[in-house]
Amino acid sequence: MDTIEQFNQYVMPSYGRYPLVMDSGEGEYASAEDGKRYIDFGSGIGTNSLGYCDEDWVKAVCEQAHRLQHTSNYYYTKVQADFAKALCETAGYTNMFFGNSGAEANECAIKIARKYSFDKYGKGRHNIITLINSFHGRTLCTLSATGQDVFHNYFFPFVEGFVNVEANNIEDLRAKLDGTVCAVMFEYIQGEGGVMPLEREFVDEIFKLCAEKDVLTIADEVQTGVGRTGKFLAGDNFGKKADLTTLAKGLAGGIPIGVCLAGEKCAGVLTAGTHGSTFGGNPICCAGGLAVLNRVNSEGFLGEIAAKGEYIREKLLKCDEVASVSGIGLMIGIELKSKQAGEVVKAALEKGLLLLTAKTKVRLLPPLTISYEEIDKGLEILMGILNG
Ligand SMILES: *Cc1c(COP(=O)(O)O)cnc(C)c1O
Repeated sequence: MDTIEQFNQYVMPSYGRYPLVMDSGEGEYASAEDGKRYIDFGSGIGTNSLGYCDEDWVKAVCEQAHRLQHTSNYYYTKVQADFAKALCETAGYTNMFFGNSGAEANECAIKIARKYSFDKYGKGRHNIITLINSFHGRTLCTLSATGQDVFHNYFFPFVEGFVNVEANNIEDLRAKLDGTVCAVMFEYIQGEGGVMPLEREFVDEIFKLCAEKDVLTIADEVQTGVGRTGKFLAGDNFGKKADLTTLAKGLAGGIPIGVCLAGEKCAGVLTAGTHGSTFGGNPICCAGGLAVLNRVNSEGFLGEIAAKGEYIREKLLKCDEVASVSGIGLMIGIELKSKQAGEVVKAALEKGLLLLTAKTKVRLLPPLTISYEEIDKGLEILMGILNG
């Protein structure tokens, strides 16, 4: 039985997959079982932030696996303390909670928001505003938070207490931000929703209204965080710092982690026994995360991400088939004029390039470490398809 057949026999078919068996990786290249190499412009949906098998990252992860792989949350470990300090200092937050995924990070933020409000104002102020076209995860609660009707099927009843506002519609926001609301949750750039950055005026209004009403801001930076946009947090591009920020995808370089960062206001909300996660803060993941933070904090690294993003944008905009390019830094959405994004991704696969889609767009989330040489090689393949 070949790998695909065996896999399909024993794994639930909840994903649409390409018929491609990945075997190994190096830098920007992924290699399939049949030996074919692919330039990866998707980096495992933005998780392999340092590319495949970066030397420092592999060393950090392997050393930690040899030393101590896990020890429950009854005890402390130094690697967790070091990672938490580095992350809070880099991101400018007071403290954090450890989980294993984006959804888990968001669940934590939602729980903190509700408890913050309950502790201070009592019952009835539990609603959370989320935006239409958002994506916050696949657990029941984060699905309920997700503002896309396509996700609200089959699994009824959903979790109560989420109110959707149209992105960039200030009037809609004002109308719905009433006395029942404890938080507004948003992505600065809607990722799965089509790489759609929020308008600056709308972001300003969220922060202004929330400050007036002691309503918390929750920035879901699961996809946009950890340098992806050329700043450590996407909020830095807007001059904003949310009360709570969630991170996951690229944070540990391709191994499971999710964190919820809290500023001063929410740092004391979760007390002993109010939240937990067995694998949360796994030492190996923390070691990988430290390797990522060391690199992202190295001199000039974030500036390079912004420059590479600009370079890719300029090249794409010269292509006749490209209608527009959205996103910031190395989070890029390409709206096409006549071609279908899904068809472009399939054609690219044939030619040795991995791409993503987001709604009707082709989406690029290359590793943050990608070289100009590999950018050129990948773009040459992409342009060949778009011009063909
Ligand atoms: C991917 C993503 C999530 C969900 O993360 P998981 O690790 O799959 O749970 C949540 N929010 C945003 C913005 C994402 O891009």
